[in-house]
Formats: sequence, structure tokens, C-alpha cells
Amino acid sequence: STAPAFLSIYDMHAYYGESYIIQGISFNVHEGEILALLGRNGAGKTTTLRGIARMDDPQVTHGEIWLDHKHLHTMKSHQAAVAGIGLVPEDRSIIPGLTVEENLQLAQIVEPIGWTLDRLYDLFPRLGERRKQEGITLSGGEQQMLAIARALARDIKVLLLDEPYEGLAPVIVDEIEKTLIHIKEQGITTVIVEQNAVRALELADRAVILDTGSIVFDGSAAEVLENAELRAEYLAI
Ligand code: ATP
Repeated sequence: STAPAFLSIYDMHAYYGESYIIQGISFNVHEGEILALLGRNGAGKTTTLRGIARMDDPQVTHGEIWLDHKHLHTMKSHQAAVAGIGLVPEDRSIIPGLTVEENLQLAQIVEPIGWTLDRLYDLFPRLGERRKQEGITLSGGEQQMLAIARALARDIKVLLLDEPYEGLAPVIVDEIEKTLIHIKEQGITTVIVEQNAVRALELADRAVILDTGSIVFDGSAAEVLENAELRAEYLAI
């Protein structure tokens, strides 16, 4: 197809100081899909997400990042956020001293045209029940839900999830997975980084696999699930 992809990473190179981590990667994310970004520990998954979100670290020295015809590679992180990138970091970054509702209200910096509090509580009933509770006193799963809800409250186009299932019981993972399917039905595009590769592949439409800062696979998620050699070599599953 000749139409540019919705989110497009082209020949991205990234460093932490002198350490050359992302060694020229290119991949596309299509509008409305869920893409699993996988690979062993240290492969460069978090670094890739942070590069797309234009965080100060790593330094992206070369390449282009496009979102919906806007070039993110010239932007700072706050500008990328306004353009529609919502990074949910591994530590979830819930703001201490604020209730669930205050955490969400703080995220609604612009007019909450799309994701009102009511709509967020419909999607995450547990957050509605606990809206007056301090955010950092929530369980791990609830904090993950709050972190995702907070990203949505900013009216994002792309959700970048870094290890959303980490440390959570399978029943909570089920709940978050259902929510991610619902978010997809609302037209939001998702990139999920997950150590639990099987769960991520079952959810995702497509997968990109990284190995020491380079892409070794780009294709359908089903293809990875069916390919035992690929799974053993790059995912140890
Ligand atoms: P993990 O699941 O272990 O987080 P990952 O695929 O997300 O794996 P990254 O966190 O992107 O991997 O790390 C890629 C490489 O960059 C690793 O070698 C790591 O040691 C290095 N690295 C990560 N963060 C920093 C940093 N702040 N300073 C220097 N090197 C870093």
C-alpha cells in the first residue's frame, strides 16, 4: 500500500550516553491495531518506547518517527503527548498524595472532550468505586488501570504500554486484557511491551521482535505463536 502507516518508525538509532542501544530499527503500527513489541531482557523494548515518546533519555540520534503525518522526531515529550502519544511506564507513576480522581483530573489538561470521568469509570468500574482513595494505596492491578485511564484522559491516539501485566495475578491480567480489547474497539492504537509474551501475542494483531537493538521479526502475532523456533530463539518460550 502507498498510504503511510499511522505510527511509523524509520531507521531509529538511540543511545544512553555512549551506549549504542537501538541500532537502526524501522517498523509501522497501523491505526487501531495492537502491536506486541517483544524480545529478551535488554533487547531494547523500553528504550524504543521512550524514544517514540520523545523522553530526554535515550538520545535518538538518527531516524524519523511519524504519527498521523506529524513528525515526532523534532518534538519534546510534552509535545509528543499533545500530538497523541500516551506512554504508561513500567513503574506506573501514580502521583502520591492525590486521589484516584485527582490523578485523572490532572491528566485532563485539555478539555476532556473524549474521555470524561464517567466514561473512564464505565471502562474501569474499580476506579469509580475507589475514586476518593489515594492512588498509591491501590493494589498493583488497580494502579495499572489508573495509569492506563490517566493516559486515556489526555485524549491520546496511541497507547504505549511498558510491562502492564508485571507482578499481577492472572485473574487481574484477564481484567486488564478485557479493558485493552475495549480500548481497541474505541479506535485507539496500542503498542504493548510484555515479558509475558504468550499473553501479549494472544491479544495482539501483529508482533515486532527485537534482539540487541535490531528487529529480527515483523509479522502477525499468530505466526509467532505457531513458530516454535522463533519463540525459543528470541523469546525463550
Ligand atoms: P527489560 O525487559 O530488561 O526492560 P528491554 O528490552 O526493555 O528489557 P531496555 O530497558 O530498553 O531493554 O534496555 C536496553 C539496553 O539499554 C540494556 O542493555 C540496558 O542495560 C541499557 N539501558 C537501559 N536504560 C539505561 C540507562 N538509563 N542508561 C544506560 N543504559 C541503559
